Amino acid sequence: MSKGAIIYPGSFDPVTYGHIDIIKRASKNYDTVYVSVLENSKKSPLFTVEERVKMLKDVTRDYDNIIIDTFRGLLIDYAKEKDVHMVLRGLRALTDFEYELHMAQTNYLISQGTLETVFLPTDLEYSYLSSTTVREIASYHGDVSKFVPESVAVSLYKKFGY
Ligand code: ADP
Repeated sequence: MSKGAIIYPGSFDPVTYGHIDIIKRASKNYDTVYVSVLENSKKSPLFTVEERVKMLKDVTRDYDNIIIDTFRGLLIDYAKEKDVHMVLRGLRALTDFEYELHMAQTNYLISQGTLETVFLPTDLEYSYLSSTTVREIASYHGDVSKFVPESVAVSLYKKFGY
């Protein structure tokens, strides 16, 4: 039976083990997983979209049903373009919940009930982990090897010149 496709959108600035855990679990449960990097002009990211895509491709290269992509504008428009009706988000803690609930309800409403959101609770091991924390630690030349794969750590070290 076809399990369909799902879009996992986010900033991934940079991708962490927390994201990777969600991506791997999704890849087992859906035929195709679009990991879609949002080009958001309002945020000033550490890594360019191209750099984030490259890191994501690198860490997911062993999975053949994961597609790394980018989008700008509204998620509902991007989902329509891809003909995908499911969005995936990870939930770390209660603090994520309110924002994520509003996003999911809004997308459902403005898509006229055609775009559903599913949540995967984070693995306990990564529930503390965020890209923001990783960027902060790396900015002080700290060790990020417990939070991101080697290739991402190297990109962070290069970015911060150590
Ligand atoms: P955004 O800026 O859209 O929140 P992120 O790249 O920070 O993008 O996160 C993308 C998605 O991954 C969100 O659903 C977020 O809750 C989830 N996520 C982030 N960090 C983790 C983690 N450590 N474990 C599980 N899910 C996570």
